[in-house]
Amino acid sequence: MKLSLLDVLFCPGCGASPLAIEVISEERIEVSGKVPVPVCERYCAATGGPPGPSSPCVECLGREILAAELTCPSCGSRFGVDGGVPLLPPPAGEDFLVGGR
Ligand SMILES: [Zn+2]
Ligand SMILES: [Zn+2]
Repeated sequence: MKLSLLDVLFCPGCGASPLAIEVISEERIEVSGKVPVPVCERYCAATGGPPGPSSPCVECLGREILAAELTCPSCGSRFGVDGGVPLLPPPAGEDFLVGGR
């Protein structure tokens, strides 16, 4: 997952956002072309605050998170990121699963 995904991730348990991230392993990817700043809409993980015209959002797009630990600041739930995929359980009452019937 790109670091910028933190902008749209929320806790499936209580809906809090943004989640705190502790990066275990990451990869830098080349961001080509001009990055429209800010990329993030509500939360910029590169600065840990609200995005603005001077946010270093090239960081949000250029950091591929391979393994990390996500923590909900509200209810304390913890979620892993493994192989670049956030292991969030689907929110209760919403069918996020594809197939599986
Ligand atoms: Zn950003
Ligand atoms: Zn929560």
